[in-house]
Amino acid sequence: MIDLVRLLQELIRCPSITPTDAGVMDIVQKELTALGFSCERMVFGSGKDETQNLYAKKGSGSPHLCFLGHVDVVPVAGQNWDYPAFEGVIRDGRLYGRGAMDMKSGIACFIKALEGFSFNGTVSLLITGNEEDIPTYGTPAVLNALQDRNENWTAALVGEPGGTQQTGAVIKTGRRGSLNAKLTVTGKSGHTGYTHLAVNPVEALCDILNEVRKPLDNGSVHFEPSTLSVTTIDVNNPTPNVIPGTAFAKFNCRFNDCHSVDSLTELLRARIDPIAKKIGVSYVFETECMADVFFCTDKKFPALVKEAIKEVTGIDTIESTEGGSSDARFMVKYCPVLECGISGQGMHGANESVALCDLETQTKIYRRILEKFFDEKSP
Ligand SMILES: [Zn+2]
Repeated sequence: MIDLVRLLQELIRCPSITPTDAGVMDIVQKELTALGFSCERMVFGSGKDETQNLYAKKGSGSPHLCFLGHVDVVPVAGQNWDYPAFEGVIRDGRLYGRGAMDMKSGIACFIKALEGFSFNGTVSLLITGNEEDIPTYGTPAVLNALQDRNENWTAALVGEPGGTQQTGAVIKTGRRGSLNAKLTVTGKSGHTGYTHLAVNPVEALCDILNEVRKPLDNGSVHFEPSTLSVTTIDVNNPTPNVIPGTAFAKFNCRFNDCHSVDSLTELLRARIDPIAKKIGVSYVFETECMADVFFCTDKKFPALVKEAIKEVTGIDTIESTEGGSSDARFMVKYCPVLECGISGQGMHGANESVALCDLETQTKIYRRILEKFFDEKSP
């Protein structure tokens, strides 16, 4: 019998801060091997980029359900923890540690849910060691390699935490995209006593940012309105009587399906350009897409998952597209995908923890999803 709490503690005791493995993948592999899975380690990148990935598979043919998870965690430096972050201390019914919520608990619960489960078809797990940083050598690299072998999936479940509400209250059926932008404005430096001889890039930048910050859209059927946050304005000018030559700002857009990366970039450029021209500054506008927007258009798989949650918890689950991005954005190109995971506290913060009773609930939810999925889809 798998001891769920012990398994989660073992995973947490590996300080697997991205992309360090710290032995955590071996633990996952050992458990899945014992359950009859054939395990393949897929390592991509080299040097400091080297990323451990695991693709574990049991059964054959369709239907094929894939579970996606990550064993890496964000750092704890600069945070004040009441308990050691990598020990898995249990106090008052909660298990504390980095990854207790995001998302070693999801992996432990899914493994436990597989114990003693027989099915016709295929179950696979794609576990990556780099989700939290730029995941070039994580899930997208594995999916590329598997696609070359004609691997295909009926549906996929991502075990990311569902938020701070009750476990089961929310599943994620899409996520907004994330676009980073840097705007560098160059004017003409000069003496603050002779402003008419200079072109002030700081003031130009302020005017441009006011325009850029206007609403990007009114939201869509599945998404809230897109947002734009200015994250820094830098001038590096220590002298009070000098108008500097250059100033730059950075901002991050969380964009919905009203936009593509290209159309959003063009929209922003169209806001910048007329003001820059009017004031007489030149500018360089650079963007980098960190994650594209995605939405799972399939209706059946979310319905099945919501039914399973209702049967276990009695909750009417909400479909949401809030929050950051996840590896679901890579899987959505191959099959219907959604995120269903445990709820907890302190994700990415101090005292990250999970209630032991939530571990049990989430395991039951995963088990019920497995039962319904293979019942319904099997011939
Ligand atoms: Zn996560």
